Amino acid sequence: MRLHLIFGAPGSGKGSLAKLVNEKFALTHLSTGDILRDSVSKETEVGLRVKASMANGTLVDDDTVNGIVFARLQDETRGVLFDGYPRTLKQAIALDDFLSKTGSEFGLVVYIDVPMSVLESRIVGRRVCGNNACGAIYHVVRKKPVVDGICDFCNGLLIQRSDDTSQAFHARMAEFNATYEPMLAHYRGKPNYRQVDGIGLPDEVFNAISMLYEEYV
Ligand SMILES: [Zn+2]
Repeated sequence: MRLHLIFGAPGSGKGSLAKLVNEKFALTHLSTGDILRDSVSKETEVGLRVKASMANGTLVDDDTVNGIVFARLQDETRGVLFDGYPRTLKQAIALDDFLSKTGSEFGLVVYIDVPMSVLESRIVGRRVCGNNACGAIYHVVRKKPVVDGICDFCNGLLIQRSDDTSQAFHARMAEFNATYEPMLAHYRGKPNYRQVDGIGLPDEVFNAISMLYEEYV
């Protein structure tokens, strides 16, 4: 198994870029969120622990996340693109250990670099359709609806989620940087680490990432 990692802050476009890379290069796309939800639905002992953490709004501890992720990776034989893991330095060190023990190898480690000010304008300018059945996403500059404040698809009112305010953004980024920075530092300077400029249009960023994967996949 060859494991590729993709990192980026909330608002970096990481999730949608990972989907595009996965389609183009026929990788197995795994995300921590999906794997944790899957373990919850199976109601195993570990799954019940994860369920309790989620219900309390606490983070699932590193050892539990590692155990679930490694069990899932064990079955993989080809290229995997992991989105959202590792999240802490402790997880990154455990992952190194797992890969060397199972004779697997690292592929590309890509970090999508977007400055804080750009992330903030992306997130704070986000508006979502208040009709839950629709949920279309807009932006006050980048993706305006035809009629101001009204959803193009269902005529629902557009709202700003409480997570998308400037205050919530800064609180989330402070927390994110505190755990993410030491983890990223672990990968910086490794030969397969690449930083991609994530400021451009989604297509431009995707092209830049694709060129990197052409070499590696
Ligand atoms: Zn709508």
